[in-house]
Amino acid sequence: MPSTNSWLSIRQDFPILDQQVNGHPLIYLDNAATAQKPRAVLDCLDHYYERDNSNVHRGLHELSNRATTAYEGARERLAAYIGAEAGEIIFTRGTTESINLVARTWGDAHVGEGDIILLTEMEHHSNLVPWQLLAKRKGASLRFVPVTPDGLLDLSNIDELLAGPVKIFSFVHISNSLGTINPAAELCARARLAGVTTLVDAAQSSGHLPLDVRELGCDFLAFSGHKMCGPTGIGILWGRKDILAAMEPFHGGGEMIASVGFTESEFKPAPYRFEAGTPAIAQAIGLGAAAEYIDGIGRAAIFDHDQALARQAVDLLEEIPGLRILGPRHDRGGLVAFVLKDAHAHDIVSMADQYGLALRGGHHCTQPLLRKLGVPASARASFYFYNTPEEVEQMAAIVRKIQTFFA
Ligand code: PLP
Repeated sequence: MPSTNSWLSIRQDFPILDQQVNGHPLIYLDNAATAQKPRAVLDCLDHYYERDNSNVHRGLHELSNRATTAYEGARERLAAYIGAEAGEIIFTRGTTESINLVARTWGDAHVGEGDIILLTEMEHHSNLVPWQLLAKRKGASLRFVPVTPDGLLDLSNIDELLAGPVKIFSFVHISNSLGTINPAAELCARARLAGVTTLVDAAQSSGHLPLDVRELGCDFLAFSGHKMCGPTGIGILWGRKDILAAMEPFHGGGEMIASVGFTESEFKPAPYRFEAGTPAIAQAIGLGAAAEYIDGIGRAAIFDHDQALARQAVDLLEEIPGLRILGPRHDRGGLVAFVLKDAHAHDIVSMADQYGLALRGGHHCTQPLLRKLGVPASARASFYFYNTPEEVEQMAAIVRKIQTFFA
């Protein structure tokens, strides 16, 4: 685990953090929405555009070869990052597109009338709406693992929920609204026993804790580059090799074909059959650099660091009168969402911005969950390894000031 000093020197890798916002030093606590990018990733993007920019795969010249090598190298780097094989790594635009890909291809082939898609009540809209669309297309229905009032999954009858014509269980690893860390390996094991395919939404976990798809035992895993120090517009769908091999293409176009006739085409094997058109080359290479950078620090150390900040935040925030913290008390990922009596989350976040503090307010793309919890919106502070205990203290002090305004 890096020492306090090394965490501070790691922070120097992020030029964006060194600025004033509204006359105050920026305190960036909106990492669950998107994380900042270290110099290593920015330099990698610059280098690519300054030296190697070219289209991949079909070129026979030096720059195209370099771009292809770097792009495929990034695929290998991402495979190593989650204990997978390169052929199982599909580059997508992010978690949302990864889940849509599965719902459209695997889903259309395997889910039929009367079948059930199992989700949880704490899903991000991107792990809900694609399944709603699939259910509507196919005459299937959705079933949900309930969330308890303290923000945990109620797993008391998980085996019953997995029983019957359930085709897929798609669930979030770390909730972006509650911070809950779901027991992903256990859930996948239970689903496997029931013969149910699994998809893990790792948007909030991929940059925050060690992930190994074989240890998780899932069938699909999805995450976004921009939440783990990588560029926007790039993400990963990992799928088990045998499952990907049997899946129909998602989009049609160049790059994904083996041969094309006027009326019919043959497709390349996975992962290329799922990457139609010119891919997000620089972004994929940048994501490879982000994975390298994160592993240089160590995800176990990052997890401990973020959890410590979240614990500190819970302890400080819960002393503020009229403040309710959503989700489990201490055993949580590095984020804390809260509501303040008589104050709308948007007002809290706008006022915090006047102090240079970046929070996020709203439903965090989990409208049904917040409705169930009886709150229209929440304010959320989310941490990453470049945040400090001093920033958490300042955040709590600012929220306290805001609270007195509404008291
Ligand atoms: N799933 C979870 C848990 C998230 O937090 C997010 C983004 O906030 C997503 C999915 C969607 O990610 P993206 O917008 O990068 O596709």
